[in-house]
Amino acid sequence: MCVETVIVGGGPAGLSAAKILAENNVRVVLVEPYPGRVKPCGGGLTRRCQLLLQLVFPGYVDLIENVINEVMLVHSRSTYLLRLERIFVTVRREILDYKFMRHVVDECGVELVQDRVRKLLVSRDKVVLQCNSQDIEAKVVLGCDGVYSAVRRELGVTMSFSPYAVRAYGRYRGRPDVAILDFRLSRKSPGYLWIFPLRDGANIGYGELTSEPKSGVTVRNKLVLGAKLYEINEIFDIRGHALPGDIYLPSTDMSPRNVLLAGDAAGLIDYSTGEGITFAVLSGILAALSVLKRPSRPLETYLNMISSIIGDLKLSRRVILPIKYRVDDVLDRCIRNILTRSEPVSRVLRGRSSYYEEFKRLLKLKPLVTLLKNLLKPRELQQLIN
Ligand SMILES: Cc1cc2nc3c(=O)[nH]c(=O)nc-3n(C[C@H](O)[C@H](O)[C@H](O)COP(=O)(O)OP(=O)(O)OC[C@H]3O[C@@H](n4cnc5c(N)ncnc54)[C@H](O)[C@@H]3O)c2cc1C
Repeated sequence: MCVETVIVGGGPAGLSAAKILAENNVRVVLVEPYPGRVKPCGGGLTRRCQLLLQLVFPGYVDLIENVINEVMLVHSRSTYLLRLERIFVTVRREILDYKFMRHVVDECGVELVQDRVRKLLVSRDKVVLQCNSQDIEAKVVLGCDGVYSAVRRELGVTMSFSPYAVRAYGRYRGRPDVAILDFRLSRKSPGYLWIFPLRDGANIGYGELTSEPKSGVTVRNKLVLGAKLYEINEIFDIRGHALPGDIYLPSTDMSPRNVLLAGDAAGLIDYSTGEGITFAVLSGILAALSVLKRPSRPLETYLNMISSIIGDLKLSRRVILPIKYRVDDVLDRCIRNILTRSEPVSRVLRGRSSYYEEFKRLLKLKPLVTLLKNLLKPRELQQLIN
């Protein structure tokens, strides 16, 4: 088989790219071994995620289970209640992915090949994908095949470490519009328990930034402990999955210009909010737009388009993540002021601003500067602002 563009992986990144390309009359083949697979996920969609989904899969609105108006952050010494009206919605991820897949295949004409990519043979103007049962030749390949990406591996980019998260469903009697993030179970490595209410019960999960060999077991035990803490007695369908540990976007001199990585394959996740779907959809869209702009060599365009997002994700990781986890140790009062005012968080999650903009704005606030001085060395701080 010989086609223009092959998308490897039918998660939010691959489906978003497929939708944009198909809409623009590019013949797309989507290679996915398990259409309808269950991806373990919290199913939280922030406002910025919803704005993006509106572009590629407006039908997501029918799948909304609950609208969240408050987020409770529980630390060992304090609890913060952030009132952020309609800050995110919850969905059941398996239903979202299944319906999205049906939309691009049945309504947009994307060709689905049920197979697994094993190897890539890349030359200047074509890529041969060796799958389990056939070879596919394409001009351009989009690697949207998740955290263990075969496409990324074939480019020679190795994963340094991978954090782990588990989720389950359970019966829950708490308020349906309040989500809980509880940091008390994380000791050595940053991690948190989440409870995201659904129409019927809740999605409960635990994720930790650790790559201990037994992290799967540890994380699972913490989920069970967390369920007991919140009196969620019946939990079922516990499933875990790795998360990307770093951003893995090879530069133009290291990578062929006709192979792009998006979503988890590229490590695009915001650890300060736990959002991966947002960046999967966004990078899928940008990868597709780059192919439309420069059909045979889209990498340079893609890297240009995505560079500010990567900068923002790095900023979130280096500044916002430590603040979120070290809230007990540093300037509790100052944090309380910032968090309970909550406009900066709200603006970013609504997609009206970036961490970079908010960070610059917040630096004008004296308490935050004091806080950051405790968290970061001055040179680091300067590098971030420049
Ligand atoms: C427990 C947990 C909870 C989470 N909660 C949230 C949340 O609440 N909100 C949020 O925004 N994000 C959340 N995330 C992150 C989010 O799930 C991911 O960032 C997102 O799924 C990334 O989408 P993707 O399309 O890049 O990859 P994926 O969704 O992983 O899709 C990759 C696809 O590629 C396919 N594939 C793999 N290998 C091959 C191959 N060799 N050939 C062909 N196809 C292949 C897979 O079958 C899969 O369908 C969570 C993650 C975890 C683990």
